[in-house]
Amino acid sequence: MVRLVVAAALVYGILAGVTLYEERWLLFDMLETDVPAMGVVFTVFVVPLMATWGTAEFISWRSRKRIFDRRLRAQGVRQATAGVVAALVGVAIGTLALVVFDRILPDAVLLGMASVCSTALVLLPMRRQSLTACPSCGYDLSGASPAGGGVCTECGFDVFGAAAQGR
Ligand SMILES: [Zn+2]
Repeated sequence: MVRLVVAAALVYGILAGVTLYEERWLLFDMLETDVPAMGVVFTVFVVPLMATWGTAEFISWRSRKRIFDRRLRAQGVRQATAGVVAALVGVAIGTLALVVFDRILPDAVLLGMASVCSTALVLLPMRRQSLTACPSCGYDLSGASPAGGGVCTECGFDVFGAAAQGR
């Protein structure tokens, strides 16, 4: 989860930095005129990041996604990638929303909603993790017991050792 949020923060941070630095940049033109710097940071960075984080936490809480399985260290890279993709798609949807709905809703609301949509789009189709499945290979371990040595009979993943480590 942390890697996903940090990766998304990087993308939104770069976006906010570019928006502040290059005033003729596309997104800046579409934001309300004479928005102060703090307003830009709030609209382009804080709101989309919180929306991404909240959506990811909600999806992680509602359905056990493999990508958030703490027993799998290899998921870190996938989390970071998912964060970058979710943020980039969020920027794309947000830019579109700013063009279409600019007169109807505040910029921060539009960009926040865009980030919720993009995060859900990226995470929802991802594989779920069954409670009884091996975290590494997905083999059904419902019949397994600690007597078997605590390792997956299919791939040898140390199920109980990884669970005890906690992350
Ligand atoms: Zn396995």
